[in-house]
Amino acid sequence: MARIKEIVLVDKSLNKHGEIKGKNKKETKMLRKSCVHHKYNKKGNIRSVTFPVNNPDTEFMERYGESKFFVCRRCGKMIRLHTYNKKEVKEILAPVYDCLETEKFIAAATNAGQGVVSYLVGTQIQLDKLPKVAGKLDKIASKKSKLASKKKSRDQYKSSQYGSWSRK
Ligand SMILES: [Zn+2]
Repeated sequence: MARIKEIVLVDKSLNKHGEIKGKNKKETKMLRKSCVHHKYNKKGNIRSVTFPVNNPDTEFMERYGESKFFVCRRCGKMIRLHTYNKKEVKEILAPVYDCLETEKFIAAATNAGQGVVSYLVGTQIQLDKLPKVAGKLDKIASKKSKLASKKKSRDQYKSSQYGSWSRK
């Protein structure tokens, strides 16, 4: 199977400390956003590059309560161990859509320009796909989680990440 290009790109950008470093600030920022928090090992299998954190930021605690988190060694992002189902994603997006409708209205009313309008409409079209994509991933992760709990893994953080995805 072809390798995921984001993983390969981020892999090439790492400095000697294993951190993402682009040619300039803009590229570093883009590469950090491209990080999917995994790497390919020598055999070509995908492995996570995260470590668990027990006491995440108060901001996260306020938002999610006692949730499990991982931090990416490469980009430094905090990742919540949770699979979002379709309904949950729709609820999360509802206020975002409210905001987008208002911004579209203001953009047209103030004649803010084609660029702004295209950005707002494009964002809405992109976000429309998220519930379906998340729903599919939820199903795949739950299947993997069942497999992982049947088969005890030697390395806790290889397959237990699937096993510990929390579900509502
Ligand atoms: Zn990352």
